[in-house]
Amino acid sequence: MTDRVGAAVVSVGNELLNGETVDTNSAWIGRRLTGMGIEIRRRFTVADDAGEIRTAVREGIESADLVIVSGGLGPTRDDLTRPAVAEMFGRTLRVNDALLEALRARFRARGLDELPPSNITQAEIPEGAVVFENAYGTAPGLAVETDAAVVVLLPGVPREMRGIFDDHVRLYLRERFTDRLTAIEHRVIHTTGVPESRLGELLEGALPPADDAVRVAFLPDLRGVDLRLTATAPDAELARRLLDEAEASIAPVVVPWRFIAESGDIVEAVTDALLGRGWRMAVAESCTGGLIGKRMTDRAGASEIFRGGVIAYDNFVKMNVLGVSPDALEAHGAVSEEVAAQMATGACRRFETELGIGVTGVAGPGGGSRTKPVGTVWIASAHEGGVVTELHRFVGDRRAVRERAAQAALALALGALQG
Ligand code: ATP
Ligand code: MG
Repeated sequence: MTDRVGAAVVSVGNELLNGETVDTNSAWIGRRLTGMGIEIRRRFTVADDAGEIRTAVREGIESADLVIVSGGLGPTRDDLTRPAVAEMFGRTLRVNDALLEALRARFRARGLDELPPSNITQAEIPEGAVVFENAYGTAPGLAVETDAAVVVLLPGVPREMRGIFDDHVRLYLRERFTDRLTAIEHRVIHTTGVPESRLGELLEGALPPADDAVRVAFLPDLRGVDLRLTATAPDAELARRLLDEAEASIAPVVVPWRFIAESGDIVEAVTDALLGRGWRMAVAESCTGGLIGKRMTDRAGASEIFRGGVIAYDNFVKMNVLGVSPDALEAHGAVSEEVAAQMATGACRRFETELGIGVTGVAGPGGGSRTKPVGTVWIASAHEGGVVTELHRFVGDRRAVRERAAQAALALALGALQG
């Protein structure tokens, strides 16, 4: 394994230190470099001060092959990056004729014949520096190459910084570090309905060792756990092959909970399955109060597969709109298997759909009892093959219980469609 190219990122600006501006440049540069296989070793945020800038660049070079500085390249007095870096490497600042001409042309285009002296400084570059054209503003990007490292200077304005990076710096770095760059590929496996800890235990034997070329991150939220696989290899083709192998060993273990969706949203998988079967769906929602309907209709084109739903919050609606029997409500209560099942079949009947979903539960914070504590949720799916019900005991506050219940209902619908 070659030693990774390391980078330090330096953000310059008083406004970043005092909190007036949030430093988004470092995060953006971090993502870009990481994507190229470059490892971020250090990050600095410094004032508009030549000494501070030099110290950060010097310390950056100590641990990295590459230092990227953003900010302080402008035409004003507080923009000190260029002279500071030129001085520390003993390079004189010289006017670059091509840059000066380009600046003149820019000003002429705006109807100004005279170039303000403060702008002339922007055409000054450290001797021997590589110039990256700025198609988005006046200050070009620069690279100063030394034996120890490459120092890249970019303007602070995010749009300009990003533009120059993508237009020129990427290619420059690829060429410069070509034999040491590694390819990084990601793949995400989506699961729902299984806790992170359980997933971890189940995958114990299937996961590649921690120091392997494929790393696995567990990313949980209220809707489920994503497994993000990251492969590092000399080239992208090999990295993808490593991902294929890792996925093949993980796949059998996650079958009961896995869903496939590019967007990461299980609604996409449900929609695809409905389209595949030529089915339409309707929902009867009590404790989720329309969350499932909202999520189904968030996707454009939902009308092909989603007919509508009822927010059956009150028993009056459960009985009078969905046809839930008063006897079932009386005998088992609103949060019960029977009522969830009757809600699902009622939705099918009222909306004339092939698939119906029913959800009834105790979202909290009040309303819980010893036998039906807060978080108790019954969900049901109904179709011609019959009714399937599930009892859940969700943890969390009202929002969490509702979010988890909607997700579980969608997962149950997916199961019914695939079964
Ligand atoms: P210009 O050529 O426009 O003068 P510059 O290189 O001098 O660019 P700065 O003056 O440091 O850049 O910053 C210009 C603008 O960009 C400011 O509004 C500043 O808040 C913003 N900016 C600077 N650095 C960052 C950063 N790291 N993250 C987000 N915004 C930033
Ligand atoms: Mg600044």
